[in-house]
Amino acid sequence: MKKILFATKQKGKVNEARLLLEKYGFQVLSLEDVGFFGPEPKETGVNFKDNALLKAKYYGLQTNLAVLADDSGLVVDALPGKLGLKSKRFLSGSDEDRNKKLLKLLGKFPDKKRTARFIAFLAFYDPLSGIVKVTSGVCEGIIGTKMQGKAGFGYDPLFVVKGRGKTFAQLGLEEKNKLSHRAKALEKMALFLKTLK
Ligand code: IMP
Repeated sequence: MKKILFATKQKGKVNEARLLLEKYGFQVLSLEDVGFFGPEPKETGVNFKDNALLKAKYYGLQTNLAVLADDSGLVVDALPGKLGLKSKRFLSGSDEDRNKKLLKLLGKFPDKKRTARFIAFLAFYDPLSGIVKVTSGVCEGIIGTKMQGKAGFGYDPLFVVKGRGKTFAQLGLEEKNKLSHRAKALEKMALFLKTLK
């Protein structure tokens, strides 16, 4: 089985990548698995794609391994410029703090004013061959009026998936992995990686 490092400190992302890429014959390793405990790179890119590439190149050069890295975020239409690229820096503190703050900002807005989408850009970099590839995925939904569900991470308890009426946190890992922004980017990447084998 071919090994690939999914370079992130976010365990939820590694779990999603592991489940999906295993189906394509890849063994996904975490930073912990490869013994890398160094600092994260600064996310200085002007968009998700730049940041995903910057992370993949940084970790690839640090570990000398073929690497996947993603940059993702939540775009909330009623709060232009507030989250998106800054989804994590939106508020320092825990995921729960950020979810509570988002609920407060949207207040009693009706569903039609709560539209949102998750965006993921995924970058592959192999320091030995120099091969670089970027894929992306989007998932549409709305921000719920309360946190629902226990699975996942980040904004999962608030993001109600369009057409499903449930949050990512209610759907759980298997279901999220069939329709999420990251799953779409991973599926495209898996097809590309297969061509390298
Ligand atoms: P980053 O890509 O690790 O910088 O993540 C940006 C922010 O978006 C963090 O607050 C994440 O928790 C959040 N985020 C990214 N992807 C997801 C997801 O699939 N579910 C929930 N939150 C996410």
